[in-house]
Amino acid sequence: MKVAFFSTKSYDRDCFNKHNTGNHELIFLEAALNKDTINLTQDCDAVCAFVNDHLDATIIKKLKHNGIKIIAMRCAGFNNVDLNAAKAENIKVVRVPSYSPMAVAEHAVALILTLNRKTHKAYNRVREGNFSLERLTGFDLYGKTVGVIGTGKIGQFFCKIMLGFGCKLVAYDPYPNSDLIALGINYVALDELLKTADIISLHCPLTPDTEHIIDKQAFSKMKKGTMLINTSRGALIDAAEAVEALKNKTLEYLGIDVYEQEEKLFFQDLSENIIMDDVISRLISFPNVLITSHQGFLTHEALNQIATVTLQNLTAFEHGETLENEITIQ
Ligand code: NAD
Repeated sequence: MKVAFFSTKSYDRDCFNKHNTGNHELIFLEAALNKDTINLTQDCDAVCAFVNDHLDATIIKKLKHNGIKIIAMRCAGFNNVDLNAAKAENIKVVRVPSYSPMAVAEHAVALILTLNRKTHKAYNRVREGNFSLERLTGFDLYGKTVGVIGTGKIGQFFCKIMLGFGCKLVAYDPYPNSDLIALGINYVALDELLKTADIISLHCPLTPDTEHIIDKQAFSKMKKGTMLINTSRGALIDAAEAVEALKNKTLEYLGIDVYEQEEKLFFQDLSENIIMDDVISRLISFPNVLITSHQGFLTHEALNQIATVTLQNLTAFEHGETLENEITIQ
């Protein structure tokens, strides 16, 4: 099949070429899929898209017009795809439901350790001959209460790592996981988690229910000095309210790998540009905020898995086989 790959980087191209044993014709495009780039799908059978590509009803209608039969998401989340529109146009949507959940869980831990022990600051200081320890004091993770919102594939791994540090774990998920309960993790109501946790880590998907799950009200329930970590989706947090929570010291640390308006920023080198987003500029200005640009998934193991499963999804479709990883709606 001829597949138009949008939003690709060198690591995508290398990995997909290595695993393309089904001999699909892969057209790698750096541009994101949107109304200006949709015509690049002409003559293609399939589209392969990522987290910030636009797959709303208008785009999907045009994809149909251009002959696209399947949308292969090379990620787990699909909040950027209008599934109703895809169904109406009889375009299949597949994804990679799991690709190294450990990668994202471990990145959340990296954010916690860096924010806490300030290794990023120590690295820069020492390179400049500054061996002072002033303002590098952290805290023991041992014995702290960690609140985990969403204990699916990634949240579970995260919980297990934090248990290894000797933390107490509380979790909130409409579907509690019995393995985690057996490990001593206590499922509580969201309000209780917000009130008791020293560190809160978000691992739930973005849905209408979870959009701004961390809003002004949620911040008002947190303890002073909370650390908030988000490696899931940006819109789980009201970022403007996070700025207020940092100013009033409810948040003593914020670590985010995702941002609500990331689409205009992340995955690009904007070092010579003026950043027009005032909220992220304000967040960057805080000494106790650590932002990474959606790199939680970026390990060799995860990239190999993403490429293998995406190509298998496309081959299964081409051969008329059952699509194990199809996203369906009722
Ligand atoms: P998953 O589907 O295995 O788990 C999600 C969990 O969230 C489930 O247990 C579900 O019951 C729970 N949940 C649903 N609604 C909830 C709510 N209202 N409150 C609390 N919990 C709720 O998903 P996963 O593989 O663990 O991935 C989690 C999220 O991580 C994805 O949706 C995606 O947005 C994000 N992600 C980020 C990266 C990255 O690079 N930063 C990579 C992959 C996935």
